[in-house]
Amino acid sequence: MIVMDEDNCMVDVARYFIEFLKGESCGKCVPCREGLAKLSEILTRITRGEGRPEDLETMTDLAEIIHDGALCGLGRSAANPVLSTLRYFKDEYLAHINDKKCPAGVCRDLIKYTINTEKCNGCGVCARNCSTKAISGEKRKAHTINQELCVQCGVCEDSCKFGAVTIR
Ligand code: SF4
Ligand code: SF4
Ligand code: SF4
Repeated sequence: MIVMDEDNCMVDVARYFIEFLKGESCGKCVPCREGLAKLSEILTRITRGEGRPEDLETMTDLAEIIHDGALCGLGRSAANPVLSTLRYFKDEYLAHINDKKCPAGVCRDLIKYTINTEKCNGCGVCARNCSTKAISGEKRKAHTINQELCVQCGVCEDSCKFGAVTIR
């Protein structure tokens, strides 16, 4: 059993499982081999903010084709992560595709780290830990993040003890 909460992105979870199953597929039959590769490609695109409105229908059709055409149990159940996340978390897919947002704050290409100036005390820990030197600011004054240099690694959020780094 895997327990998840609102900090888990269901689109990314589906992408992870499909990617794993793609690697497990022996490749003997076309629906499983090619279908999983296509599902993985679509899910990856969506998590990068490149989803298209027709992707959801395409994935549903693909999932049915994989289920009906697969020769063994792996292929027949392989698309379940897509079908169940689409059934119960469709709003998350729509947020990625239409709003280019990841509600859970997981998909790197769709999030932005910022520093809350009210909470930041200018301790400088985040700036010292940022490998791309994206954070700057004077001692004991609120720091800021240069979005051009930020690679969304999340180190600043982990290292700030004052909860001043937020994800948007
Ligand atoms: S459904 Fe089974 S037999 Fe067919 S490619 Fe997938 S793993 Fe191989
Ligand atoms: S670690 Fe937190 S409090 Fe310290 S400078 Fe960075 S954002 Fe501000
Ligand atoms: S997310 Fe990473 S790269 Fe971006 S400001 Fe924070 S530590 Fe630097």
